[in-house]
Amino acid sequence: MKNNFILVLNCGSSSLKFSLINPENGETLLSGLAERLLSEQAIIKIKHNGKKEQQSISSPFDHQAAIQCLVTHLSEHQLIACISAIGHRVVHGGETYYQPTLINTDVKATIEKLARLAPLHNPANLTGISAAEAAFPTLPQVAIFDTAFHQAMPEKAFIYGIPYKLYKEHGIRRYGFHGTSHYFVAQQAAKMLHKPLEQCSFISAHLGNGCSVAAIKDGKSVDTSLGMTPLEGVMMGTRSGDVDPGIIFHLVNQLNYTVEEVDTMLNKQSGLLGVSQLSNDCRTIETAYLEDNNPQAALALDVFCYRIAKSIASFTASLTQLDGIIFTGGIGENSDIIREKILSQLILLNFKIDVDANITNRFGKSGRITLEGSRAALVIATNEEWVIAEQTFELLNQEP
Ligand code: AMP
Repeated sequence: MKNNFILVLNCGSSSLKFSLINPENGETLLSGLAERLLSEQAIIKIKHNGKKEQQSISSPFDHQAAIQCLVTHLSEHQLIACISAIGHRVVHGGETYYQPTLINTDVKATIEKLARLAPLHNPANLTGISAAEAAFPTLPQVAIFDTAFHQAMPEKAFIYGIPYKLYKEHGIRRYGFHGTSHYFVAQQAAKMLHKPLEQCSFISAHLGNGCSVAAIKDGKSVDTSLGMTPLEGVMMGTRSGDVDPGIIFHLVNQLNYTVEEVDTMLNKQSGLLGVSQLSNDCRTIETAYLEDNNPQAALALDVFCYRIAKSIASFTASLTQLDGIIFTGGIGENSDIIREKILSQLILLNFKIDVDANITNRFGKSGRITLEGSRAALVIATNEEWVIAEQTFELLNQEP
């Protein structure tokens, strides 16, 4: 086997997702997930050759131990030699990184500094980088930043209406996230419409447990709903999205919440979970709505879809043409109910749903779900890992 595969690592605070990918065609040789890291229940699940394997991770149950399990599996199956580099998903690149970047000591120090903007994510990403460096000391390691695609946004889109010096002195501005996903689906949508990406404008809705909408003009991100942190914008699984900032003062001053309690409430107890009072999982809410006529489930779906429709409509202000909108992420790719509800609130933008296509384009099948003659709405299965592999490969094979 040729040594042109990229090992893609996506490290969370207690998890590690990995894939071994051919960057040229997206072929995934192996993929998996280590979860519940840093606890005695730490496990690793590996999917390889159509088989799924699961095993416990032994002490110290950390990212390095998880990577060691992966290395053992790779070496038992003679796969180590086919890896040419490691591509890391790194959440926050601030204003420093808008390109794939070869990791060295300076880059790690900057990622660490940027942790003040992403305290939950960047430290975990760095842990993954160190563990991978220890396991693969001779291979190049590349960082692909989730914020990078949105670095093309104009100042009017990323500046908040607060004192400008907070931006200049402390970097408080919109950065946006899910950039790799928005970029991938825009690229696929352009292919579907047989137009060069540089001539396409889309509004893309990444709807998963985290959700964001992005306006893409001439192939570049010009605005997006997530902000300095992944809390702003549309409602998500457990995150509130936009709220009146005055609510925070009310909770603290009148209802005696601590700042930590407000943080937990907005990040972990809100969104679909908070409104439905059932679950953050869209499938559970849809079932309660369809089978039990549950009024909280109906309300959660209504609020979720209305806010996304409003966000999509608002992003038309960033564009001069609209080739179509794109649905992606676990919900966007699979939920015909959510897509139908969103499109039905965008009649003024001339979306006429193709009911059959909306039902068939699910579970990994991509395609158009509006009728010809109306505006295109496309379902596209995202593949952030492929982008990370592709960009890692391209960086390392650039002409000098
Ligand atoms: P992600 O974060 O992209 O993995 O997406 C997770 C979300 O996708 C969860 O809310 C799931 O309930 C939702 N999801 C996955 N499959 C379906 C489905 N068939 N119908 C509705 N929602 C789904």
